[in-house]
Amino acid sequence: MAVETVNRQLKIKKVGKIEVAKMKTEHRLLKWIFMAGAILVPLFGFGQARDVPLLFPLAWGAGQFIFPLDCQLGKTCFVANYMDDDPAPERVKDWSCGSITYDGHNGTDYAIEGWEAMDQGVDVLAADAGVVIEAIDGYYDRCRRSCPYENSNHVIIRHKNGLRTVYHHMKKGSVLVKRGQEVTKGQKIGEVGSSGDSDAPHLHFIVTDSEINLINPYAGPCSSNKSESYWENQEPYQGGTFKVVKALLTDQIPDGSTPKPVSTLHPRDPIVTLWLRVLNVQAGDISEWLWYTPQGELYSRCKVVHDRPYAYSYWYCYTTLAGYPGATKFGAWTVHYLHNGTIVEKATFDLEP
Ligand SMILES: [Zn+2]
Repeated sequence: MAVETVNRQLKIKKVGKIEVAKMKTEHRLLKWIFMAGAILVPLFGFGQARDVPLLFPLAWGAGQFIFPLDCQLGKTCFVANYMDDDPAPERVKDWSCGSITYDGHNGTDYAIEGWEAMDQGVDVLAADAGVVIEAIDGYYDRCRRSCPYENSNHVIIRHKNGLRTVYHHMKKGSVLVKRGQEVTKGQKIGEVGSSGDSDAPHLHFIVTDSEINLINPYAGPCSSNKSESYWENQEPYQGGTFKVVKALLTDQIPDGSTPKPVSTLHPRDPIVTLWLRVLNVQAGDISEWLWYTPQGELYSRCKVVHDRPYAYSYWYCYTTLAGYPGATKFGAWTVHYLHNGTIVEKATFDLEP
């Protein structure tokens, strides 16, 4: 991760939510996935997914999925990673020939807006009618640095033609279905959480066939799924132009939630942070934060060269106030956030004695 600290009093933090934090565990992931491909299966719980004997004909659904979350894609939830459809090690490709994924990623990550959104509850929905063949609940659900894989609260549903959908990382105590239970399309089965191998609240959604071969539900030019989309209405590709979803000044080090905004600070406050939640960072993009005193002098700066694309991520830079020359220039301070050299966000705060 190319993170450049411009001077000592500046702390640049690239923090990621899922994608960023995933980078930290990537070596471990790679090891798991490429040392033994077969491990992929038990890792995600398929190993225990014995079929439920069926005595009666059941509603299997039509084999076309609805979006498995009760949220607005692009507004209140976001694709953080698609499935990696390039089988080669250390190469990635999503269904639309982009790289909104990471190596070996076997599903799609739909992120929600953070811990508060998780606390409020975002419903996970059965993508189609079917029968629950596995339902696990009870694990800790506020993992920030990846808890063990097997501690994911999750549901597996079997559909028409043996298709399976898997819903990972759910909130503790939220799973509403039991093994053997029939579900209807769109039925609430639980809520988004961050249990198991997760760093922030999101749904990891996997589709497989009856032999547990991965299926990319998205049809597209670079999808291994050359037939039709498995979605009833396939959402447009979430890559695109860079966009700031939310930006604010805070006196905290953000932890994955939307931080508490502040507008007035004092020299005794240890830090001031400009935090941004953004869409569509490209590899090689440059983010910069420039902090100016009320007199317009450059006080400090942070710079990040992004190492890979991030469909959805948050970033912040904080600077210290206490004890540094210039930090007692009272009045309206300004901070600029620049993306590839263009100012895309400006914020001000009052520094008071
Ligand atoms: Zn995932």
